[in-house]
Amino acid sequence: MGFLQGKRALITGIASDRSIASGIAEAMHRQGAELAFTYLNDKLRPRVEKAAAALGSDIVLPLDVSSDEQINACFEQLGQRWDGFDILVHAIAYAPREAIEGEFLDGLTRENWNTAHEISAFSLAAMAKAARPLMKDRNGSILTLSYLGAERALQNYNVMGVAKASLEATVRYLALNLGPEGTRVNAISAGPIKTLSAAGIANFRKMLGHFEQYAPLRRSVTIEDVGNTAAFLCSDLAAGITGEVTYVDSGYNILGMTGIGDED
Ligand code: NAD
Repeated sequence: MGFLQGKRALITGIASDRSIASGIAEAMHRQGAELAFTYLNDKLRPRVEKAAAALGSDIVLPLDVSSDEQINACFEQLGQRWDGFDILVHAIAYAPREAIEGEFLDGLTRENWNTAHEISAFSLAAMAKAARPLMKDRNGSILTLSYLGAERALQNYNVMGVAKASLEATVRYLALNLGPEGTRVNAISAGPIKTLSAAGIANFRKMLGHFEQYAPLRRSVTIEDVGNTAAFLCSDLAAGITGEVTYVDSGYNILGMTGIGDED
């Protein structure tokens, strides 16, 4: 019997079978969770429906987190299918392309800043608020995805790094707020993985090469690696963990300077 048997999970953020959310959905399915899904727009709907069907689910709901109406409608509709649920996976981020290439200040506008923060960080808090009545007193768990750029200055990541810092702080405030009613809130900080979003970051391939050369495990991480850790963090096996950022990054975050021992 899987360690998520009897748990119900809402998975956001599937855009392709390479999406981190796809790896999380598969891992949670393997551990026995019942799944529901959201899709961003009509273009992505058939893909998400196909992924859902393959994992035994027919609950597929529209959700664009830039709209309060859609966030509220999503949980209203979910409430019609499930009288409560246990796991909310937030795998959503967006910043305009010009804000995640070149120099931080070059791509900086009020609009780019607000968009990155609204879609990538505010959305976690807004979804937690809308989901609260359905998740209350169930030993439930909310999980989001972050990146090292939240705490280190990384070239090209720019305003998305600032938004991820906001996201990680949001995880801690939500954990404090929702802990008394039994809901845990955590983040996974994943190493670079080639997904549609990652392709939008300038020089992503170069970054991946550097990572594989220097990370202690000398390999990139996979959506299966992230999925398995997500399944654990959202299960009762992790009942004592909340407000944390867990690294699934082949150990890259522990490094100081890289390349010092390289031959010239
Ligand atoms: P992805 O492109 O597969 O997924 C991003 C998802 O965000 C898509 O499904 C997209 O539909 C959704 N999204 C964007 N705007 C939205 C909106 N307004 N409303 C609802 N959904 C919206 O890429 P991914 O890499 O799987 O990204 C998932 C999460 O993982 C993101 O938070 C990303 O920052 C994070 N992350 C990715 C990496 C990486 O290297 N790929 C590393 C660390 C963290």
